Amino acid sequence: MVLLDGKYIASQIREELKAEVAEIIASGGRAPKLGIVIVGHNPASETYVANKMKACAAVGINAQKIAFEDTVSEAELLDQVAKLNGDESMDGFIVQLPLPPHISEQAVLSSIDYRKDVDGLTPENVGRTVQGLPSIVSATPRGISELLRRYQIPTAGKHVVVIGRSNIVGKPMAMLLMQRPYLTLPKLSTAAVGDATVTICHSKTQNLRAICLTADIIIVAAGYPGLLTADMVRDGVTVIDVGITRVDDPSAPKGYRLAGDVDFEHVAPKCAFITPVPGGVGPMTIVSLLQNTVQAYRMKAEN
Ligand code: NAP
Repeated sequence: MVLLDGKYIASQIREELKAEVAEIIASGGRAPKLGIVIVGHNPASETYVANKMKACAAVGINAQKIAFEDTVSEAELLDQVAKLNGDESMDGFIVQLPLPPHISEQAVLSSIDYRKDVDGLTPENVGRTVQGLPSIVSATPRGISELLRRYQIPTAGKHVVVIGRSNIVGKPMAMLLMQRPYLTLPKLSTAAVGDATVTICHSKTQNLRAICLTADIIIVAAGYPGLLTADMVRDGVTVIDVGITRVDDPSAPKGYRLAGDVDFEHVAPKCAFITPVPGGVGPMTIVSLLQNTVQAYRMKAEN
């Protein structure tokens, strides 16, 4: 069994990005710039934003935080998005989710210029990915693609089961996997995976166990700790665990630990490859945002 070390691969990619940004600057360019819009004081969101700012600084991306109180109106937020869309110095930006209930996330996301949408969540970017046009792919599926590619795990002709159908993980992941890879953006995105036979499962799926038993690769993004158990996988399978759930653990220093969707202890011995939680998909997600920012910068420079 090989552990897919997302922490290590992400550090490798950070080094590559650092060199790329240094080269851009050395050849007279400016550092790529990322805007991060945050609304309110959700502790998890504040932590994510702080981590993203730190990750940008480490590779030389110029990150700017734009913070609003949670009393901000939808109109004010849309106005901010319009400003960022028109700001020539801003290569990409994200709006940290979730937003307060009085603001429509869909309205805000849909108003972002897809060329600056480094979270890859606008309908335009999603549609372009579906059609195999140059697009920005959301961070977690991009990170998983990169992990599979760097460990040389082939997807062509393989049966991949994706558990979860969210807009940020399950759906775009399945879409990348089923594409003809040469259609999916050889130059400007992660043409890493593709040509797989994909089954998408969700909470209404019947016979999940039987479906998983036919998989070569299983990608679980359900947010349901321990969902994938040893009796659901065959020997030699590759398992990618996207789930991150806080579970109470009085013996842990913080009183909780992070649990994945896989019963790691019993599933891992049957696997050819498996991601740990933490240290698997999580670090890949953050570094993918940095890759997307540099991609947006380059797309702009080439237009
Ligand atoms: P989500 O929007 O809540 O979607 C979860 C999906 O899993 C839904 O499609 C749901 O089905 C399905 N599901 C839930 N319970 C299931 C079950 N028992 N059997 C089969 N399918 C089930 O979640 P998400 O945003 O995609 O995130 C999923 C997990 O990944 C969460 O733990 C999240 O924290 C984590 N995550 C991690 C990263 C990272 O960087 N590692 C990034 C993003 C998300 P229905 O559609 O039928 O409800």
